[in-house]
Amino acid sequence: MHDVIIIGGSYAGMAAALQLGRARRSVLVLDGGHRRNRFASHAHGFLGHDGQSPEAIAAKGRTEVLTYPTVEWRDAVVRQTAADAGEFIVRTEDQEYRSKRLILATGVGDELPSIPGLRERWGQTVFHCPYCHGYELNKPPLGVLGTNPLSVHHAVLVSEWAAANQMTLFLNGAFEPDTDQLADLQVRGIQVERERVIRAGGDAPSIDLTLQDGRTTRLEGLFVVPQTVLENPFAKQLGCALEDGPVGQYYKTDLTKETTVPGVFACGDAALAMGSVSFAVADGAMAGVATHRSLVFRR
Ligand code: FAD
Ligand code: MG
Repeated sequence: MHDVIIIGGSYAGMAAALQLGRARRSVLVLDGGHRRNRFASHAHGFLGHDGQSPEAIAAKGRTEVLTYPTVEWRDAVVRQTAADAGEFIVRTEDQEYRSKRLILATGVGDELPSIPGLRERWGQTVFHCPYCHGYELNKPPLGVLGTNPLSVHHAVLVSEWAAANQMTLFLNGAFEPDTDQLADLQVRGIQVERERVIRAGGDAPSIDLTLQDGRTTRLEGLFVVPQTVLENPFAKQLGCALEDGPVGQYYKTDLTKETTVPGVFACGDAALAMGSVSFAVADGAMAGVATHRSLVFRR
């Protein structure tokens, strides 16, 4: 029996584990090792670690967390969770664990449009966050691949990192901007391409998009807003309510990161409308502290 089981040992989960380890609570971290940014060679915007690899940041965090003797770690994928008389049961392929509290730090998955060549370039020349990857692109021709009406907003934002008049919004049949949006895009020098994108090719630092009519466009970065998904059944199994965010669902929590099920906390991308390493770490720290307090004050 552990005080706390944390499912997901990435930035959010480790930040929670750190607080709980420092409070000398018994913690079990179960981690599948599939961080959302594993496709990128460098991570940016996380103070103290700017430009380091996602793996290096995670490895350093793991070393720090495992310094605390009450923190245990298993590389394992959790298949099932259940609540049982005020306790929680967590099952992997071959083990069952119990705890008084549960922290869900499982992140989200990204569903990219199914264009051949896109997935392979994710994190290399295809990105979603200009704050993470825009600066290194150094004002080249950029594009936004339309997925829904939010892509107009995304194109305007990303154009800040593009050379003047070198920004294209590829609608790709996903939607049609309204008159006001078209006027705004024009004023900002953003081209609108209506022909469908059928293929992404080329090698970093360039990406070549082939359009249905045979034309090709060379960019140095293509941005896309993917749909995000919670890739596990834990919300349903535990009865946690979800929120509808602009790009996908995430756990509904209060300010202390407790879900709608008492004793179950959620943090990081799985419990935020908008993700980054910094946000995940802050969110995880809050979840760790709040989980500890719930063990102290709620008996
Ligand atoms: P994650 O890092 O996604 O980790 C979730 C963990 O939970 C994983 O280890 C996973 O294996 C584990 N897990 C999930 N389900 C289970 C299960 N059933 N059992 C056991 N373990 C499980 N942000 C930045 O700040 N800077 C950047 O430069 C940056 N670049 C990015 C590049 C790309 C291509 C992408 C897609 C994202 C990028 N991000 C960046 C965003 C960043 O990756 C996320 O915001 C961050 O990883 C969220 O941390 P997290 O701990 O919530 O989730
Ligand atoms: Mg995590």
